[in-house]
Amino acid sequence: MNSSPVAHSTRASVTLSIEDGPEGFKLKTTTAGHGEARHALARVLLTSDPGPARIERWTGDIGRRLLLASRHVRERNFTRIHVEDLSLLFAAYDERFLNGLCGELLGRDGPAFRLSGRMTRAAGKTTRLQHPDGTSSFEIAVATSVLFDGFLADDPAVTVCGLPCRDRLEALQRVLEHEIVHLAEWLCWEVSHCGRARFQGIASRLFLHRAHTHQLITRSERAAKLGVKVGTRVSFRYRDRRLTGRVNRITKRATVLVDDPAGELWPDGRRYVRYYVPLGKLRPVSARPWS
Ligand SMILES: [Zn+2]
Repeated sequence: MNSSPVAHSTRASVTLSIEDGPEGFKLKTTTAGHGEARHALARVLLTSDPGPARIERWTGDIGRRLLLASRHVRERNFTRIHVEDLSLLFAAYDERFLNGLCGELLGRDGPAFRLSGRMTRAAGKTTRLQHPDGTSSFEIAVATSVLFDGFLADDPAVTVCGLPCRDRLEALQRVLEHEIVHLAEWLCWEVSHCGRARFQGIASRLFLHRAHTHQLITRSERAAKLGVKVGTRVSFRYRDRRLTGRVNRITKRATVLVDDPAGELWPDGRRYVRYYVPLGKLRPVSARPWS
């Protein structure tokens, strides 16, 4: 990141990640018949090559289907989304791109889905969940914070997986496609790394992905645009007073430390009271860094 508090070109690349769990992976629904399905899925992953025209048509159809079927995602720059929308998208992708083989391998329940308002760096994450009985299942999480932070007026172009996205729906689809490749790799080979050639080959053939990072506006970038970052001296209104302090942390809001003899003692020997302030309410008062 640039050290200036004024945003120039501060778009961070945010890595889409998968958590690698401990070894000993075993599918929840493993039965004798699944060897074949796994083999078939591996063949699709390694050889299917629909080509750009078909991929664009298929993914466009899937997006439109979501808009028609969803009770929450009603417009391309949607402001609401429900976890069942992820499940719907996943089923459509599995059917169209992977011959329904993920669903077959995972059983009726499929993977679990989660919408996270707290993931502020990664846009998506596939996690293998290990159960006490030794079986595993999967969870795909999508960061609503990262999606909803982008696509506001005057925001720079958004790129996900190396592909420019015109709206939130496109960004969501690219994020989910990436996670689907992780899940499918896990199902076939019990390991998945998006930095590796096999993953990138699959993501490129099936979904035209060019990269495994995305560029969305994250909260800290938005804050940087306002001239606020960790260490910035800021002022803000609290009740009827204007307080001045320093930004200590930026998540959904900024944590601002304000000198106060009644506050808690910090390692720098001073006492501060912490305020959680929405970013838009902060006014930078100077660019002095932490001393
Ligand atoms: Zn990844």
